[in-house]
Amino acid sequence: MGVIRPRTAEGWAEVPVETYKDEPGTWMHVSRRVLFDSEASAFQARVFEVAPGGYTSYERHSHEHFVLVLSGSGLATVGGERREVGPGDVVAVHSGQAHQFENPGDAPFVILCVVDRDRDRPELLGANPLATPETRR
Ligand code: MN
Repeated sequence: MGVIRPRTAEGWAEVPVETYKDEPGTWMHVSRRVLFDSEASAFQARVFEVAPGGYTSYERHSHEHFVLVLSGSGLATVGGERREVGPGDVVAVHSGQAHQFENPGDAPFVILCVVDRDRDRPELLGANPLATPETRR
């Protein structure tokens, strides 16, 4: 069964916004919307919004990520590289690669992230050695 899910002013029809409870040093100011999740599919598609000053956890896991930046800009760390990314940019995270997304800016940083539906849990790696303290608020 396919899905056609209209975009609405608030987000997407019938998709709740899950706000992550802030855990400083792990993730901050991050919300998640699961855009697509079906027992009939091998993948899931989620949209993460990282608010200004926020960041996702610095982590690694066996499953992969395909990420497309939807709006705003931020910093992506993957494979020992940390670079600014903006709308339309793609970030691919291979199995086992440490990664993190940070938003040092003043506007929401919004990314689409596609993952295996059945996946291993992330291993949290603590502080990103490539991140600088001034990007943390
Ligand atoms: Mn991850």
